[in-house]
Amino acid sequence: MWTSTLSLEPSRVVITRLLGRVWRGAYFTSFAPLRVENLPRQTLPASNWVRVRNTLAGISGSDLQLVFANIDPRVAIAALPEYGRIAPGREVVGEVIEVGEDVRQLHVGDRVALQYPFNCRAAGVHPVCRSCASGNYALCEQISFPGPLPIGSGWSEELLVPEQQLFRLPASIDDEQAVLLEPAAVALHAILRRLPLPGERVLIIGAGTVGLLTIKLLRALAPHAEISVQARHTFQVEQATRMGADSIIYPQKRYQDAERVTGARLVRGLPGNQVLAGGYDIIFDTVGTKRTLHDALRWSRASAALVLVGNSLHPMHIDLTPIWHRELALLGSSAHGLEEWPAGSGTLRSTYALVVEMVERGELRLDRLVTHRFAFNEYRQALLAAMNKAESQAIKVVFDFTRTPASTVPNVRAARRPAPAPARASARSMDSGVTKPPSSALLRVKGHFADVTSVDESDPDETDEE
Ligand SMILES: [Zn+2]
Repeated sequence: MWTSTLSLEPSRVVITRLLGRVWRGAYFTSFAPLRVENLPRQTLPASNWVRVRNTLAGISGSDLQLVFANIDPRVAIAALPEYGRIAPGREVVGEVIEVGEDVRQLHVGDRVALQYPFNCRAAGVHPVCRSCASGNYALCEQISFPGPLPIGSGWSEELLVPEQQLFRLPASIDDEQAVLLEPAAVALHAILRRLPLPGERVLIIGAGTVGLLTIKLLRALAPHAEISVQARHTFQVEQATRMGADSIIYPQKRYQDAERVTGARLVRGLPGNQVLAGGYDIIFDTVGTKRTLHDALRWSRASAALVLVGNSLHPMHIDLTPIWHRELALLGSSAHGLEEWPAGSGTLRSTYALVVEMVERGELRLDRLVTHRFAFNEYRQALLAAMNKAESQAIKVVFDFTRTPASTVPNVRAARRPAPAPARASARSMDSGVTKPPSSALLRVKGHFADVTSVDESDPDETDEE
């Protein structure tokens, strides 16, 4: 099956990053982190595992950071042993095509979405860690897991995981909505880290998929909040306005815009040193660069909260003094899990389930955000479209596995038969459909990438919005 992995050894990341500054084709070579290869199908590794045939899989900002080697190997997360090899594509919807004999909740034919990441309950670890015990699987404290790890990913024809990692989708959610369930859950989890009160001024930095979904969710959950959005591109301004933003902060004159919208006073010291006296009550930063965090700290009024959603994988040199002087709260937000909802009720609900219920009640629409679909063999074009939003005007770019030639995706029923013997001697090129000998560099760049140079290079540390 065609699958992809990200190998993040420091030497690979550093070389790719350096070469990428002068030649963007470096990100698609055999020494780059991304590896796309055709591996033999494997049998289910345990009786509680499930085989999913993927239908749609999104490209997230986090995926792009790693594909384009936008990571410093000195950051804390890079010290974790399993960070060296990551399966990209956590936004995925698919169909269950095989279940192990001890699978209890899922059946062949069920449509499912992945609940990333792997965690104690999925791995069968006993006792589970404190985070997993409370349902916050994204905060799992296990450093490594005994037993098999998930096989495949969203950017893969098939995905093999324990059933505990899958969320069964109701018929009311179609595939295009379902592939946005994960980013919607990311946005909902972030909002519930600090739910705005009526009349509070809220800023969302970034108008990518998560930023736009944050607007939509805030409109439903905090209808009396005043919502500003900092958008980078014109088409994002249009989307943010359509989804209910009250005002737009433009990058070029963002301090003046923030002053005008909040009614704060813009104060200037030495050249380049400016800060708002007053400002926002809550800021959701869905970009997460040094620049956005720097601005957010200076646009926050006393006792404000900054919810950090988009994340940088670089150590930052940054002025933190507003945190002390204004008693700001910095709140990290990571993926999703269980939420206390309604707030204060003591009732814990799955973030995914809450999003689905909001869609079913008509409080949240997940359509019209998928702007680009690519077959999986067009992965380079897909990644470049997602990376270069100024040109592509992409909101959500997805891999559409129904566009992949049928011969590369096994028939649903065929998967219920015992898996075929490993066939290492045959690896087909996705570009040509021709059978070729196996090669570790099967999809090595063959020629010049005319479109690679169009990647936005305005800020090498700013991959894009989540
Ligand atoms: Zn855990």
